Amino acid sequence: MRLLVVEDDPDLSRQLVAALSEAGYVVDAASDGEEGHFLGDTEPYDAVVLDLGLPVLDGVSVLEKWRRDGRTMPVLILTARDRWTDKVAGIDAGADDYVAKPFHMEEVLARLRALLRRASGHASSELSCGTLELDTRSAKVTVAGSAVKLTSLEYRLLAYLMHHQGKIVSRTELTEHLYDQDFDRDSNTVEVFIGRLRKKLGADFIQTKRGLGYRLADPGAP
Ligand code: CA
Repeated sequence: MRLLVVEDDPDLSRQLVAALSEAGYVVDAASDGEEGHFLGDTEPYDAVVLDLGLPVLDGVSVLEKWRRDGRTMPVLILTARDRWTDKVAGIDAGADDYVAKPFHMEEVLARLRALLRRASGHASSELSCGTLELDTRSAKVTVAGSAVKLTSLEYRLLAYLMHHQGKIVSRTELTEHLYDQDFDRDSNTVEVFIGRLRKKLGADFIQTKRGLGYRLADPGAP
């Protein structure tokens, strides 16, 4: 899953990017509202962490512009602790949730997990597909109860497919959600990682739809 952090405080931005990367997300960062708006407008993020007090263009305006242009990704806003009016303005502008500063990183992570799973229609933080299970809190994967060790890229790929299971996901879409904006993208590498995942999980979970992409499904389902 690929996230955007829009935060002008360099220390806080660094902490957020580090914690989110550590949690297995691909993260891009912007330090003002204009850059943040541009990235959110042009790149396909799975969720955004948006500070409201931003230089050049404030967070509420950024969010209003995205929503007006039909950008529907979940947005978690960061608000000043005692400014309830900020929360109201942010939620009215289209925010899905908020965290007040100063916050515990664990709370941001938990709220993002909730936004991501709701956006993909899942109610629990444990995603399953037949005997394949992925716990989005611990980033652990098991098949029939046995732990499967994945690299961070394999995990990201599987997490994206698990959040979109049953749907056909194109190679381009996967590439866009697996790498940050600066990565030299080569969609052939996705094929390589799909191959490795199949080796580790068993071949049947990920189907290839020729010319269209991949589909994760329970091989035991009728
Ligand atoms: Ca700020």
